[in-house]
Amino acid sequence: MRPISYRRATDAQSAVQALASAAETNNPLTDASIQPLAGGTTLLDLMKLDVMRPAVIVDINPLTKSWSAINLDGRKLKLGSLARMSDVAANPDIQRHYPVIADSLKLAASPQLRNMASLGGNVLQRTRCTYFRDVSYEQCNKRSPGSGCAAMDGFNRAHAVLGASDQCIATYPGDFAQALIALDATVEITGKSGVRNISFADLHKAPGSSPQIETALMPGELISAFSIEGRWPRSTYLKVRDRQSYEFALSSVAIALDLQDGTVRDARVALGGVATIPWRAREAEALLKGQKLDDAVASEVAEAAFEGAIGRKHNEFKIALGKRVVSRALHQAAAMEI
Ligand code: SF4
Repeated sequence: MRPISYRRATDAQSAVQALASAAETNNPLTDASIQPLAGGTTLLDLMKLDVMRPAVIVDINPLTKSWSAINLDGRKLKLGSLARMSDVAANPDIQRHYPVIADSLKLAASPQLRNMASLGGNVLQRTRCTYFRDVSYEQCNKRSPGSGCAAMDGFNRAHAVLGASDQCIATYPGDFAQALIALDATVEITGKSGVRNISFADLHKAPGSSPQIETALMPGELISAFSIEGRWPRSTYLKVRDRQSYEFALSSVAIALDLQDGTVRDARVALGGVATIPWRAREAEALLKGQKLDDAVASEVAEAAFEGAIGRKHNEFKIALGKRVVSRALHQAAAMEI
């Protein structure tokens, strides 16, 4: 039994001050002695598995009132990081103007988890790599830097084919993040010295030689909001998995299209379930612009989306599957009535 102390933040300032006092470690997301608690759907899970071992938990739920607004002002959408997934998915403005966001949230987890989980926590969820989540495996560079990677030669069916390194091939598990990266979202981050904004595309870090560093957040910083410029009514999220509910993606894609008379003026393509981070397929997007979508174009775009993908013993199938998912989602988005 390990003692844990519980603190309840009273406002944003007290939350970031408490969190910033956490000792800096090699692995801030795993070893940090102080962790924020929002919905708790990742943190408590990993504490029970003994993967995360905080000495202090700072409950940031008192900030919910100020950090949970869903605000569509003209053509700018702002989502508070403590908004619950189910509330955002059910919001009529989101369903109408950003269906890719509503779809990605609805297809994630179970209703109970969606009612608890916050948007901020959702994008920061940890990998489902079995070797990371089971501390009886000693080799895991993400959990224990320098120890090796049991997945490389282990059972790697769920692992990444894009963005991997020789240190880690763990898949980023979320869905909502693919919608955010596709729509060029900005992340508002609150820390001890104030608020800063970064592109969502810069939030997650590919494993490289430091798989334990997963995001650009500094110790003590919290995500306070996400914002998106423009509206994307022709957008969708397609998720393929081993079972139809309460399962992580084997392959997923967020698509957003701007069509004029059937010709693509702008396009967004982001992949999930196949990469180590939320994966924007920019080459695929470039191929779509100025084209009328047909089977040949969809297939060319799908090939480009998986350019450079590397399959391993058990996950090679994800490359062929992912291409089909991209192609199907493109046709699905093009056929939407808006
Ligand atoms: Fe750990 Fe990454 Fe290897 Fe999984 S893939 S065992 S998370 S280092």
